[in-house]
Amino acid sequence: MDDTCFTLHQWNMAVELSRQIQVPEIASRLVSHADRLLEHGKISDAVELFRKANCHKEASNLLFQVGEQAIKKWNDPLKIKKLFVLAALLTEEAKNVTTQNSLTMERVSKFLDAPWRPAEAWHYFILAQQQFQQGKLVAVMATSVKLQDYTDILDEETVFSMLALASALNKCFNVCSKAFTCLESIPSVGPADRESYSLLALDIFTKYPPKDGRSSQIECPHCATDIQDWSNNCPECNNRFSSCVATGRPLMDTSLIWTCRVCKHSAAEHDVLTRNSCPLCHSPI
Ligand SMILES: [Zn+2]
Ligand SMILES: [Zn+2]
Repeated sequence: MDDTCFTLHQWNMAVELSRQIQVPEIASRLVSHADRLLEHGKISDAVELFRKANCHKEASNLLFQVGEQAIKKWNDPLKIKKLFVLAALLTEEAKNVTTQNSLTMERVSKFLDAPWRPAEAWHYFILAQQQFQQGKLVAVMATSVKLQDYTDILDEETVFSMLALASALNKCFNVCSKAFTCLESIPSVGPADRESYSLLALDIFTKYPPKDGRSSQIECPHCATDIQDWSNNCPECNNRFSSCVATGRPLMDTSLIWTCRVCKHSAAEHDVLTRNSCPLCHSPI
């Protein structure tokens, strides 16, 4: 019976039967079949295999793990972001499936509990790069500040280098000096690079005192304190603001907000007017 299920690729039935009659080897055969597909680079076939077996959580877990490996191997941020968007969408799909089979997972990805975080990290990373390239200096400040939320996913040295550059260009030398302090304290930064950062910081801060200037102020909607318009939290009331997925800016005015029906992320309404799809998950608007 079990072999018939395997031959016919009825993984759903096979796993369900194994659960009912408690034959654990069926689950291990499913996992080893998935491993074989992965060895041959057939990621989508392996994911589809778990979905057919009604093991949706395992399918997203697998994709998150592939994503974690991809961060180390691939040099294509857009491809990595798409992989994580797919993993997050699979996790959302799993929530709507009432009768799921479950397998014992050898390794559980840290992203299963916060499925959109890696997609957000790579999304804002790509957005900041585009803003740098397009010379959108004011916009890149908010996005670079936002990137600090993802130093557990993105390369820390890259994040703080981008923040140091964005804040220097915006004459926000207080943020800039903090970014240099972080750069100099990253354990993986070698002594030569640490020395270069230290010399560059000395060069900058003997000319410019570490104070934030230039950028415009905005009133905190909760306590009316004036705060920098790129700040994603209020230092007075500690309120945190979510970020616009279209621009990276903090969403302080919550009256004119658009929210994606699929990923539930928001953007300022006027920033998505001309768009056909969600900037983060690319679902049609
Ligand atoms: Zn406040
Ligand atoms: Zn979306």
